[in-house]
Parts: sequence; C-alpha cells; structure tokens
Amino acid sequence: MTGDRTVPHPDGDHPDADVLAAAAAGTLDEHQRRAVDEHAPGCLRCAAELAEWRRFGEAVRRAEDYDAKIGSRRAAISRLQQRLSDLGRRGD
Ligand SMILES: [Zn+2]
Repeated sequence: MTGDRTVPHPDGDHPDADVLAAAAAGTLDEHQRRAVDEHAPGCLRCAAELAEWRRFGEAVRRAEDYDAKIGSRRAAISRLQQRLSDLGRRGD
C-alpha cells in the first residue's frame, strides 16, 4: 500500500475502448459517463481516443444521412422510371 492512488492514471485506469466509444455515442449509463468525464479530460490518451470516436460517430451519422438521401432519391427515380414507362406504353 505505498501510494498507488497518487499515480494519476495507471494503465488499468483507462476506460476500455468500447466504453469510450459508447461515451462518444452518448449511450453510457450515468455512472460510466461520469467516470469517463472525470478521467478523459486529464488523460491525453483517452481524450484523444474519445475525440477519435466522436469524429467516427459523426462520420457514421453523415453516412447514414447520405444513405437516407440516396435511398429516397432512388425511390424517386424508380417512381419516375415507372411513370415514364407508363407514358411510353400509353404512347404506343
Ligand atoms: Zn486514460
């Protein structure tokens, strides 16, 4: 018992990567979130990892937005193609 607690962030103290990922996604429970909030600002490694996960989460959200836009565009295009083929048939 010789001052383990005086070491600011021994390796075992870092939250797991999946905890940091969940923190960035905002899906942690209150207790875990508080632990990350207390630890990460004072720990370069975890702060960097958290920032990385936040960027990743942001990229995923953008990709999902993009997918949604592409999806609705595809639906619009296929409706348009259906109409055009209906019109073409009528013209025959
Ligand atoms: Zn850390």
